[in-house]
Amino acid sequence: MDFLWLFTMYVVFLLVCVSVFCLLSGRSMSNSNRISNYAEMVSHVLPAWLQRYYHRALQTRSRAFVILHLILDALVFAEYSWEVFGYCWELELKWLYIFLPYALITINLYYFYLCCVTDPGTLTRQNEVSYMQVYDYDDIMFHRDRRCPTCQLLKPARSKHCSVCKGCVQRFDHHCVWVNNCVGAFNIRYFLFYLLSLTLAAVSVAGVITAFLLQVVLLSHMMTAAYIDVEGHEHLMSIAFIIQHLFLTFPRMVFTLGFLLILVLLLGGYSCFVLHLCLTNQTTNEWCKARSHSSGTGLLSKSAKGYSRGRVENMREIFQPHTYYKKDR
Ligand SMILES: [Zn+2]
Ligand SMILES: [Zn+2]
Repeated sequence: MDFLWLFTMYVVFLLVCVSVFCLLSGRSMSNSNRISNYAEMVSHVLPAWLQRYYHRALQTRSRAFVILHLILDALVFAEYSWEVFGYCWELELKWLYIFLPYALITINLYYFYLCCVTDPGTLTRQNEVSYMQVYDYDDIMFHRDRRCPTCQLLKPARSKHCSVCKGCVQRFDHHCVWVNNCVGAFNIRYFLFYLLSLTLAAVSVAGVITAFLLQVVLLSHMMTAAYIDVEGHEHLMSIAFIIQHLFLTFPRMVFTLGFLLILVLLLGGYSCFVLHLCLTNQTTNEWCKARSHSSGTGLLSKSAKGYSRGRVENMREIFQPHTYYKKDR
């Protein structure tokens, strides 16, 4: 297989990954306009049988993306264990760096599991009254004496009905297809650790692969080597030539590195966004609402910051929601 074919496959693979991530991020933002736009676009583009699958995977609770997540984890770590680990061991890279990705992915899988199975704060007849006491109504985004038209339960401030989980969720953030669960009052802390540990795991694997490829370049003296072209002229190795050489010598490793670099950029940016929301005591739902109405009087964007009580208290609310919810406020 020549370089051009490999490179084309590589670019297509990355584009598909970025598109899937952007599409699903848009879905998980729970912005109703965006969802209906996607649904309309999908109905024009996809055949009927694929639309049914799309609906089942994205608009009802489905383990499809949980399984896809685990498959991607398994593929990256299979490549790491199969190829990268052995080479790095032979090159005597520090064992701490080589084993760090395994430690981080173990931590990540633990928080991934907690995100999937923890009740985010689903409203029931038994808890609706106590949840009503937790937050004050701002009468801008959240209005008192309203009932959810679907569940018929009283709507506490900051709650929202999730059409995928078919229930109202306290301090609703968004529905995440990757964990097949809503992110709400009681699992937002796990979701934050899940994102941070996944980003760090991707950084550590990408770091070890980069260190290995740099070692290969340095040990083989590629930077100072020369090659002779078809006309018999001698040239020094350029950076592009070295990348092409590495691509052809270790194609799976370079594929994985490219995928991880894109992932680190997307996940790193998203983790910073979620951390910012936690520090300012906003939910994704409130952030979207404030943005979509901020062209008006600006009241909504003020209201979105209205639940903030300072960074320390805001983070306490994220990490100790149970004690917070027991307060008689
Ligand atoms: Zn509801
Ligand atoms: Zn949900």
